[in-house]
Amino acid sequence: MKHVPTYIIAAAIALGCALAQDKRDEEIKELRERIAKIEEREGEKSYYLSSTGIRHNRTCKYFKANPKFMCTKKEGRACQICGG
Ligand SMILES: [Zn+2]
Repeated sequence: MKHVPTYIIAAAIALGCALAQDKRDEEIKELRERIAKIEEREGEKSYYLSSTGIRHNRTCKYFKANPKFMCTKKEGRACQICGG
């Protein structure tokens, strides 16, 4: 095996660490984006808000796809049957 100067090995290790760090940053960024997308979806007006202020999800028998009465998960009171 050829003799490799110590500084080259040190540089290679440092570069490897830097690359690994980049990869982690990328993964963290990707995870954050995924969470943001989920939060966005939760904030979507995909729930039906009845005139009495009860919120129903799409699986509920009281759910109506009426764009005038759509709300986010944060609005109204959760339905006892479907959980809102
Ligand atoms: Zn309901």
